[in-house]
Amino acid sequence: MHNPLRRRPRRCLLCSLCGGEITEGESYWYLNGASVCERCFCDFARGELAPYRQIRGREAEL
Ligand SMILES: [Zn+2]
Repeated sequence: MHNPLRRRPRRCLLCSLCGGEITEGESYWYLNGASVCERCFCDFARGELAPYRQIRGREAEL
């Protein structure tokens, strides 16, 4: 399916979470096949680090 003769060398890159375009010069995070834009980074990081979340005063219940 890949066409080596296509004119555009790069496809536009879309954020895997919000679907927004990640433009030239913009920071993004690429992890496990997902591209995450800066706008989604907080939600993404929160999800990725969820196993390490603690609630102060209830640490022993985990
Ligand atoms: Zn996004």
